Amino acid sequence: MATILIVEDEPELVKILRSYLEAAGYTVVTASRGDQGLSLWERQRPDLVLLDLNLPGMDGLDVARAIRRKDETPIIMVTARVEEADRLIGLELGADDYLTKPYSPREVVARVRAVLRRAGATRAATAVLRLADLTIDLDAHLVERDGTRIELTPTEFNLLAAMADQPGRVFNRLQLLEAVQGTAYEGYERTIDAHIKNLRAKLEVDPKEPRYIETVFGVGYRMRKD
Ligand code: CA
Repeated sequence: MATILIVEDEPELVKILRSYLEAAGYTVVTASRGDQGLSLWERQRPDLVLLDLNLPGMDGLDVARAIRRKDETPIIMVTARVEEADRLIGLELGADDYLTKPYSPREVVARVRAVLRRAGATRAATAVLRLADLTIDLDAHLVERDGTRIELTPTEFNLLAAMADQPGRVFNRLQLLEAVQGTAYEGYERTIDAHIKNLRAKLEVDPKEPRYIETVFGVGYRMRKD
């Protein structure tokens, strides 16, 4: 379940929000000062930040900017003043949504859910890996080289996806076996070599001079970075 960081200096509000969000199944961490909120964000990397605008220690806007410089964590800004709300969405600080006080805790839970869903959808939409002239669509299980579709078996696809997801990383055969089968038994590692051979035959322009999948002698295989 997702972790929500609440940065809010009114203890009563924190109490209410915490109970509603926890009842909705979220894990909640809290900070009552802006600077503490930022360091808690650094340590915990929550899935969403519910951030009050007027905070002691560090202004909510500055906290949001500091987070944005480092990561795309969804942020919902909370403000007591309606006129400020318009300013917030106009600002390029990248808040994903805002709430004005007073709000109903139910509304907060609904917004949190909606923003998390949107953030998840964005991540899913970017599940396409591009390496040199290869395009690997992880959701649709499609592979194209230079715009031409390449037909792979599910095993070959999973093998390619595992390596392409971390280009440059060397995988040993046992790790690759686990990536394609979910389990790995010692003694069967060499079956990977057969899959790699088939994969290269389909993927590489010249399978004898592989450009994408490199053999790392004595260890295993890796996807080239460029
Ligand atoms: Ca406040």
